[in-house]
Amino acid sequence: MRYSKLFGKTLRQAPAEAESISHQLLLRSGMIAQVAAGVYSYLPLGWRALKKIEQIIREEMNNAGGQELMLPVLQPFELWQQSGRNISFGQSLFTLTDRKQHELVLGPTHEEIIADLARRHVQSYRDLPLLLYQIQTKFRDEPRPRGGLLRVREFIMKDLYSFDVNDDGLDESYKNMSQAYKKIYARLDLPALMVEADSGAIGGKDSHEFMVIAESGDDEIIYCPECGYAANAEKAQGVKTRANSEALLSVEEMATPGAETIEEVASFVGVPLNRTLKAVFYSVDGELVFIVIRGDLVVNETKLRNLLKCSGLRLASEDEVSGTGVIAGFASPMGIKGVRVIADNSITLGSNFIAGANKQGYHFKNANYPRDFQVDLIADIALARGGDACPRCGSELTSAGGIEVGHIFKLGTFISEKMEAFFLNQNGMSQPIVMGSYGIGLGRLLAAMIEQSHDDKGIIWSLPVAPYQVYLCPILLNDPAVAAEAEKVYQSLEEKGMEVLFDDRNESPGVKFNDADLLGIPLRLTLSPRTLKNQRIEAKWRTEEEVHLLPLDGLATGVSELLREKLARQSVV
Ligand SMILES: [Zn+2]
Repeated sequence: MRYSKLFGKTLRQAPAEAESISHQLLLRSGMIAQVAAGVYSYLPLGWRALKKIEQIIREEMNNAGGQELMLPVLQPFELWQQSGRNISFGQSLFTLTDRKQHELVLGPTHEEIIADLARRHVQSYRDLPLLLYQIQTKFRDEPRPRGGLLRVREFIMKDLYSFDVNDDGLDESYKNMSQAYKKIYARLDLPALMVEADSGAIGGKDSHEFMVIAESGDDEIIYCPECGYAANAEKAQGVKTRANSEALLSVEEMATPGAETIEEVASFVGVPLNRTLKAVFYSVDGELVFIVIRGDLVVNETKLRNLLKCSGLRLASEDEVSGTGVIAGFASPMGIKGVRVIADNSITLGSNFIAGANKQGYHFKNANYPRDFQVDLIADIALARGGDACPRCGSELTSAGGIEVGHIFKLGTFISEKMEAFFLNQNGMSQPIVMGSYGIGLGRLLAAMIEQSHDDKGIIWSLPVAPYQVYLCPILLNDPAVAAEAEKVYQSLEEKGMEVLFDDRNESPGVKFNDADLLGIPLRLTLSPRTLKNQRIEAKWRTEEEVHLLPLDGLATGVSELLREKLARQSVV
């Protein structure tokens, strides 16, 4: 490709709204362009990188036994009503109405469509197991699109669905897919951690995410450096430490004027947060629920939602709380009536807590469960955090930011039952197909690779994903000998099948080198009057300072040798 003809210009500075590194670099390098919030065009360089990621994913899905097909973007809304997931997806679904007033969904995922296909085409156990996948554009109306390609509303995704006769079969498919995912990340040279995750709106039982550790990540990972336990923070189980072990004292009322937040109360009394009980109110499918949790901990809404098996969960408004006669700021589980009380098990990990007195300006000292108050339900509903003990080995857990670059789910039969996707088993009995679902967002992967691999000059592509492998950079092109030789080199490398970006612009060496670094093309070949005089060309890797001088004679062979060595070194890692 001749740079002079390339569509998409590099920018010296990223637009102010680009907050993450990958967003800045993708815009500056002219790889993507924004159309609307969370909606992007891929320009030729970005598209080439994306197509390479796509091909690696496709090869690994095929190697794992997957069969590629293509399902429609437009999905009948009735199918979503059948699975019931129109509720769990809620406002994230993009819906539209056609001219005959039929409601349609722009597919955010394809379990309904594929289950509908399976119920028509899978008859007996002989048709199973099956792995079907596609690579296609999906739509989700994200409340807060951000970070360029990290969180978008329209995105290309590989989604594979597994179909098995029973749970053992599903376990096998799940293992097979997690292996395939690990191979994909290894080929992309992207270190991704497999972590336990919540199934969220997709539903089902077990689920894992593949996470790349990054500051800019939206997710938090909790992991154990000792035993390898790793989970998304919303799923993670941390073993909480005990606050104290004093003998129980009798309850005393105490004036705490002006101290309303738990921090104010703790500092007023002069105790650490873990010696207090905090009250939090949620509206759970319209019902007001009182949560009591130790003051140093935070409610994990995912755990709470799973515990209560509800669909609507949000913090209650002040009006909703005061409507029950509770005094905000001084709310107490002691003596509360007519409201369901859910407690985190941290209330048992300590004694003589400070709790609200449900009276303006007062708290109780020495509140103890179950001596002084009852609860309707007690469970672990706190966010785990770094410093908690590992649930497996007891070592200290660590936390880090993460970008989710893959998510796999054991769906089981909840969709196939609702969608009536059944098969006849060996005894001729009808049974629901056991399903799994396995997704990777391609654009997110591209952005995560840049978040992981860049420097202050620009992107650093790994060889298998780079839009071009070689940046041919002749300097002083107004020298006719350099211009002629550069053309010759370009032709010979192209003939050898190498992917070359030929910087044929009449720009200064500084501009060309800056663009080469910004675009992150792995190997730069620099031809100058000086190197030409010695019948040589300078070869330099994007990641290295060292320069190799290659003879112009037999150059194509020399360059392809360098590329091959580089790839071999990567696959060893
Ligand atoms: Zn551990």
